Amino acid sequence: MIKKLLDRIFKPKNSKAERAKTESAKAEPSQSNRPVLGTKKPTRKSADASKHDANKNGALTITQKNHQIDRKLLSSGAIKTIEGLQKAGFEAYIVGGAVRDLLLKRIPKDFDIATDATPEEVNRVFRRSRIIGRRFRLVHVLFGDETIEVSTFRGSHLEADGDSKVTDSGRIIRDNVFGSIVDDALRRDFTANALYYDPSSQDVLDFHHGFADIQAGILRMIGEPETRYAEDPVRMLRVVRLSAKLGLKIDPATQAPIASMADLLQDVPPSRLFDEMLKLFLSGHAIESVSALRVQHLHHGLLPMLDVVLEQPMGERFVMLALQNTDDRILSGKSANPSFLFATLLWHEVLAAWETYKADGHPLIPAMHMAMSEVIATQAEKLAIHNRYTATMKEIWGLQPRFEQRAGKRPFGLLTHPRYRSGV
Ligand code: ATP
Ligand code: MG
Repeated sequence: MIKKLLDRIFKPKNSKAERAKTESAKAEPSQSNRPVLGTKKPTRKSADASKHDANKNGALTITQKNHQIDRKLLSSGAIKTIEGLQKAGFEAYIVGGAVRDLLLKRIPKDFDIATDATPEEVNRVFRRSRIIGRRFRLVHVLFGDETIEVSTFRGSHLEADGDSKVTDSGRIIRDNVFGSIVDDALRRDFTANALYYDPSSQDVLDFHHGFADIQAGILRMIGEPETRYAEDPVRMLRVVRLSAKLGLKIDPATQAPIASMADLLQDVPPSRLFDEMLKLFLSGHAIESVSALRVQHLHHGLLPMLDVVLEQPMGERFVMLALQNTDDRILSGKSANPSFLFATLLWHEVLAAWETYKADGHPLIPAMHMAMSEVIATQAEKLAIHNRYTATMKEIWGLQPRFEQRAGKRPFGLLTHPRYRSGV
């Protein structure tokens, strides 16, 4: 392992040229008449050959008889994407959360595909596809209503010859170095998320004993947990979210560094934190996740509003009710509206500002407008809450003075409002 890292760091200067040469030699034979979806070109390696390669790469091959994934649970878009790429001569697998969820007998939320084709090559295979992203360049392949996310195998950011960027603290801020399936598996977060399923052969390739961990109910970080959290502090939140959602126990070594590394979350751009918090709140397990965040000391400073609100007994009850409401909706298959949730989470901030403006002699309604603008300007900006949510949040807050006028002080009026239940 150390030798491999040293080799990478001290690689000869001409490695880029060499790599480009091998890549183009590899791509050449199928390039001239690479098909768009629907045309045939059987250049794909046989299932046996890839099994052989994978074993050479150190992966375990788990056959259908052992993993028992039901192929009927796969989305047709995912199968068509993989078949299209394989027909064009590329390797392609379902990877990440979908394989993990299938092994846990859950219905996957979405299907991500990993391939050795570059984004441009994927884009050429599928007429209805587009390249997206900067931090990670991906391709979205469209089939009717379904969007399948296809990513090229990622290599190590230690490679000097790709498009990647790492800060002094070790945080990866750009990661567009392509690599082999082995590299790709190594840079994923948990062993359970590094499983590659080929629907054609129905084999699962397991590079980090994720299959055994899933069977034992363990969520385990790949590699050295400290290094992996320094590279990307959001992984600490993912540990909490995924263990709560999937009912997996956190491996002790994965858990150990979190308390002392929690502060690294301060350096993560607010927009990324917001995306991750939204996933956490809308996972159907928000209550457990928020409790776990507190146990792990991850809630401080993470969401300023959560800090403020959870510290006051009334606020905590209010937040927990809102989260329970959201969990119930999600678990019963309904949608939940993030604007309503965030309006609730920030309500106590608005209330405090409103009281101040009223005490200053402003009439009820103008005082509310001033309070809303103030909270949006400070909290919402800090949390990078998107404009499309803040408009609805203001609308919901704006209803609150009416509750107060009709029914006296009813802090829970907001939660019982019909629009709260109406979803997006
Ligand atoms: P969910 O079911 O919530 O979608 P997921 O594990 O699929 O969970 P995604 O954000 O969809 O989460 O990511 C897809 C895959 O990408 C993961 O399974 C994992 O292999 C990899 N991944 C995502 N985020 C990270 C990260 N921060 N560091 C390393 N690998 C990651
Ligand atoms: Mg996913």
